[in-house]
Amino acid sequence: MTTAALSPAAAKQPKPLPAPNSDFYDLYETLNAEELAIVKRVRAFMESQVAPVITKYWVEDAFPFDLLPSIKELGIGGLGMHGYGCAGGSVALLGFTLMEIARIDPSMATFMGVHMGLAMGSIYIDGSEEQKGKWLPAMARFEKIGCFGLTEPLVGSGASGGLTTTAKRTGDAWILNGEKRWIGNAPWCDVSVIWARDLADNQVKGFIVENKTTPGFSVEKIQNKVALKVVQNGHITLKDVAVPEANRLQGGNSFRDTARVLKMTRYAVAWMATGCAMGAYEAALKYSQERLQFGKPIGSFQLVQDLLAKMLGNITASQCLIARQAQLHAEGKLTDAHAALAKAFATAKCRETVAWAREVLGGNGIVADYKAARFFTDAEALYSYEGTFQIQNLIVGKAITGLSAFV
Ligand SMILES: Cc1cc2nc3c(=O)[nH]c(=O)nc-3n(C[C@H](O)[C@H](O)[C@H](O)COP(=O)(O)OP(=O)(O)OC[C@H]3O[C@@H](n4cnc5c(N)ncnc54)[C@H](O)[C@@H]3O)c2cc1C
Repeated sequence: MTTAALSPAAAKQPKPLPAPNSDFYDLYETLNAEELAIVKRVRAFMESQVAPVITKYWVEDAFPFDLLPSIKELGIGGLGMHGYGCAGGSVALLGFTLMEIARIDPSMATFMGVHMGLAMGSIYIDGSEEQKGKWLPAMARFEKIGCFGLTEPLVGSGASGGLTTTAKRTGDAWILNGEKRWIGNAPWCDVSVIWARDLADNQVKGFIVENKTTPGFSVEKIQNKVALKVVQNGHITLKDVAVPEANRLQGGNSFRDTARVLKMTRYAVAWMATGCAMGAYEAALKYSQERLQFGKPIGSFQLVQDLLAKMLGNITASQCLIARQAQLHAEGKLTDAHAALAKAFATAKCRETVAWAREVLGGNGIVADYKAARFFTDAEALYSYEGTFQIQNLIVGKAITGLSAFV
């Protein structure tokens, strides 16, 4: 023992507590230097520009349009997609970036997921060369924002076989009729990808409605959501909307082609859910180090440590799962069932984790200013969108039993 350790001054110094760190297994070390620099840039942006203001926007049900110029400068538009002005990079980098964004705000990650994953992804995966060249560059620069209209008021989980929105070919155009519900970014975006059933062959096809002024196309914002309040969701009505054949996704000829997009976005939601859990865990851990009860930080109590350790276990398990998911994806081996399992597992563990975070904050856990409440409610939406927990498990169930439980 040193003399310094025995001196009264040293004895009085409280040991600094470790800063909250949700990367317990050093997952970020798997990134190369270039990728890590991008993720750090995103983290700095989220912490310095988004974190201080996002709760206000969330409470007010508003999208932070004033942040869009800084988002454009991040250079992440079209991550994981190559050519056509997209940022490129690995699918792992895309995942880490979305996780990082969700760690501060799941709504902002969802905005990215809808614009880049669902809207740009539909064009990237199902569009012709000409269509990709026409739309993706401006979308990658965030000059044109996209949405993806699949879900309908009466058809959610059953979208694969039951879409009621119709497309009828008349000469060189298509006439769309129907309604779409829950469509993220729809109230204010530019490019709307609409999925409809072709009356001629009963197959689902994708159509690009280029702008809001298209006759017969109208959007109403969905009010009074209690989760992902920053994301603006719309209810779209299509009344005899004419779309040229040139705007029909040339590689989207059945729901199988829609599902190729959904595989990518479920991959992404697993990362976002993990980020959401990380944000909630870090908020709860910090709170537990600062909040005193019975004259001690609540983090010193065994039962609170139990909650924190279980939260970290959920997060670490999800991180390892999604990192392997990224490897499978990069090798071209990611199946629908792989992505479904990751989405189901990560969102379920996220839901459990954010509830424990809320619990650690006691009464303050239901006040938006303390962050945990925002993660707590946002997790509910991640759990249900892009195909619910049950639907993901049915996809996995079909793959492992060889028997379809879909009716
Ligand atoms: C915040 C948010 C954003 C969204 N963004 C978009 C978007 O941008 N674009 C878009 O197209 N859609 C979007 N959605 C819609 C989303 O994908 C659907 O909500 C989801 O697919 C579930 O559909 P539903 O809400 O109609 O629920 P339903 O399909 O009515 O399901 C209700 C319940 O029944 C269960 N269920 C249904 N069928 C079965 C079955 N066969 N076996 C067992 N259980 C079953 C479900 O799991 C669920 O628990 C969004 C939703 C939310 C909440």
